[in-house]
Order: sequence, then C-alpha cells, then structure tokens
Amino acid sequence: MTLRIAYGRLCQETNAFSPVPSTLDDFQRLHLLEGEALAAACARSGHEVPGLIKDAELSGLIAAARAAGRPVETIPLVSAWAMPSGPLEAAAFVELRDRLLARLRAAGPVDGVFLVLHGALRGTAELPEPEEALLEAVREVVGPEVPIAVTMDLHGVLTPRKVDPTTVLCAYRTNPHRDLFQTGRKAGHLLLRALAGEVRPVTRWRSLPLLLAGGMTIDLFAPMRAIFRRMKQMERDPRVLSVSLFMCHPFNDSPDLGWSAHVTTDGDAALADRLADELADLAWSVRDVKPPPFLSPQDGIATIRRAWLARKTGTVCVVDVSDVVGAGTPGENTNLLAALLADAKDLVSYVPVRDALAVDALWAKAEGDAVDLEVGGRFDPATNPPVRVAGRLRSKHATAHFGRAVVLDLGHVQLILTELPPLPIKPSFYSNLGLSPWRADLVVVKNFFHYRVYFALVHRKSVPIRTKGASDLDLPLTKGVFNDPVYPRDPVTDWRPADRRRRGLVAAGT
Ligand SMILES: [Zn+2]
Repeated sequence: MTLRIAYGRLCQETNAFSPVPSTLDDFQRLHLLEGEALAAACARSGHEVPGLIKDAELSGLIAAARAAGRPVETIPLVSAWAMPSGPLEAAAFVELRDRLLARLRAAGPVDGVFLVLHGALRGTAELPEPEEALLEAVREVVGPEVPIAVTMDLHGVLTPRKVDPTTVLCAYRTNPHRDLFQTGRKAGHLLLRALAGEVRPVTRWRSLPLLLAGGMTIDLFAPMRAIFRRMKQMERDPRVLSVSLFMCHPFNDSPDLGWSAHVTTDGDAALADRLADELADLAWSVRDVKPPPFLSPQDGIATIRRAWLARKTGTVCVVDVSDVVGAGTPGENTNLLAALLADAKDLVSYVPVRDALAVDALWAKAEGDAVDLEVGGRFDPATNPPVRVAGRLRSKHATAHFGRAVVLDLGHVQLILTELPPLPIKPSFYSNLGLSPWRADLVVVKNFFHYRVYFALVHRKSVPIRTKGASDLDLPLTKGVFNDPVYPRDPVTDWRPADRRRRGLVAAGT
C-alpha cells in the first residue's frame, strides 16, 4: 500500500519589536510555491529556495520518502518563507493557511502531514500565534489520528499548542543553521517509520524561563558545543528517536518565551522524561555564561582605530548589534551612521541604511551629482532619527534582494541606501555595488555570525557596536510581558515551576 504524505511550509522568524509588519509580499519576494512547482523545487534536480538554499527541509522529506523502501506518494501543498521581520499580518496568514488547507482537502485522505515551521512566527495582536492556528486547522482537516511531523528552527518557541498536535518534532542542531536538509530528512524518516509501525514516538518536553542569545549560542563553541555533543550521544541510543534544544529567538515576544528541551523516544516515556530533564538542566547550567561585550560607538571606533594591522591587511567588520536584519529588524540604523560620520573621519567606512523614499528621490539624479538630504528614520524615527548627509551620488543599482540601491560618497563614509532591508552577509553585498571591502577600514554587517564565514578572506577583526534598535538583547527583558519570572531579568533559581505552568501541569499563578 502506498503511503500518502502531504507537505508544506510556513516559515518566518518574527521580531515583535520591529515596527514593520510582515505581509504576503514578503513571502512572494523570497519564496512562495505550491503544487507542482513546489514538487519540482524539492526534487533532486530542483532548487528548493532559489538564492537562499538548494536543498532544505522539504527536499529532506522527499529524500526520506525515496529511501523508504516502500511506495510513498508525496503531495505538495504550499511552501511560504519570508525573511525575518515584524509580526505577520492576520490577512496574510489567513491567505496562506487557506491555500494550504484547500490543497490538503483536495488531496483526499492522507496518511501523514509534514510541515516546516519556524517556531518563532508571531502574528499581530489579532492573531498572535499563527503556528498554533495552522496546526489546529490542519488537525481539523485530517482528523485526530493522522500523524503530523514538524520541523522547526532551533530558535523556535515551544508551547503546548505547538507540541501536542505533533507526532514528530525535530529542530535544527546547528547554529548558525546548516542542517536544514538533514533535519527534514530525519523528521521525514521518523514519520515514515512511525507510519510503518516500526517505532512508537513518545515525546516529553520542558520549557525554561531562560532568555539568552547572541555569541554564546553558537553550536561550534563553548559552552554549547558540549551540550550539542551530548545530544548527539543521546540519539545514539536506539531507543531515542530525536533530541532537540530550542534556544528561542528572543524577539518573538511570546509571554512564555524561553529555551526548551524536547525529546522523543521509541515508546519509553520514562527515558524521554529523564533525558528532557537532563537536557533542561544542561541548558540551565550555562545561564551565567556571558556573551561577548558590545561596545559604544565611541569605544568601538577607538578599538577600530587601534587595529591598524587588521585595517591594513583586510578590514574590520562592525557588527551592528542593534540592527541585525537577520533577526528581523528594519535595517534603518542611523545612529551608527551618525557616529561614523562625526567621529571616524580617518576611517573609510561602508554603511548601509534602508530608506526607500530617499532611494526613490535620488533615482532621478545622475552619477556624480551633488546630494544633500536627510536619510533614515522612516519606520521608527524616535529610535533612528534622520541624519543629514551631503556628498555626491556615486552609483545606482537594481538588486535582486534589497530592491534599488544608491551609493552616496560622503567622503570617508560610503553610504548605501536601499529600498528593502540590507543584509550584508557576504562581501559581494559591497563589491556588487562597486565597493571593495579590501579598501575599507571598516564595513558594517547586520548579522551576528554568518558573515564570518563569507568574509573570512578579508575579515581581520570583528567589533560589535551597540546603539539602539529592535535587536538589542535587553529589549525583550525590558519590554516583554512574561507569565513567569524569567532569567536573567529576574533572580530565578529553579526552572521547574515555570516549566510546569507553561506545560499546563499546574494552573497559572500557582
Ligand atoms: Zn534560527
């Protein structure tokens, strides 16, 4: 008998502190496929998310189906993926959900459903938990018995309404993430084994009132390296089907935000409980490991000035920690620009700022024209006040990923104005605009880690500079509304009381 597995995706990491809501356009711009086009993208010869990754989770599922040793029919529904940004508008969610459900209904009876979620998708106030809503809607269509397998980013936020409907739940095991395909294949393989009656997944999970992020969560380095190694070791036990640790996206603004541990065993609830407790304890044990310190613009500039050898032999990457576009911020940090304009006149600097209106106004001008205008402050002028700049228009570009771009020569600062959020992860972000990173004393990057891989050739030093913005790590601790005391905002000594309430084992307030 052929197994019928329907599959789809709704994926975005939400920064609830961003003033820019996510719309259907954001998915259309990056990745929105359905039906046969989706199947073709996930086939061995296809590109699942062109421009981003060839083989991701759904290609992993298809690979698992191919290797199943029995006939498996995979049924493509809808796959939607947007870059990190602000909360998802309810209308966009409803549209995507309805398209996915229509295809699921049209597919007729299925044996299993496979969904790629992020885990940290947050909606606007109207519909704050789209992932819970999607899982409930899918469950309603397929009925209570059909297993649902879900993959998530390890920055996901677990809640009972996300965990309970799933038979299989697997998160990435790398940060920065480089195992999307493997995660999809693993979850697909488990789903198929469960359907074949070869395994009987039993899940236990824990939710910790713990909010840590940034440099100390890289899986390759201490303190997380030892924990990820232990997880691998746990999975070598044939009774253990899957072990995931969620180091939640801190800007998701869920009242139950925090790290979680999730363990699935083959029918052994006691073992799953024991390992989930062990993993939660391990995560809790690193709570006082401090992330690398962030510098003020003045201290950062002084540090770069001193790093003359780094500047001479390559460049310094300034991590714009308050405006990490990869964590969903708008990309319009003007504070860093203002500091570099005023205080770093001896340093050649490449600085991107998102300002669609300025790009539009400058587009009619010719290269070499003099310019004098205010830039930035379009979304959140209180945080990013507009900055007056004067110089000449250096070049204009139509780009694939961040709309039109205009480069302004302001003397020591080369300012890149973009229509959409600029994400300078690779040196080609600059070199495609005619700016060689080799000629800069410093280039601004807007992500925490990935740039190190791509900039490796020219990168000599990283200087994280903190100004003010939607990726400030203390923002969730000062602005977030939590159901429980949460570490490190509050002096929590034991994760267990919050865990029990979050998993619904005790009533709120007890
Ligand atoms: Zn992530």
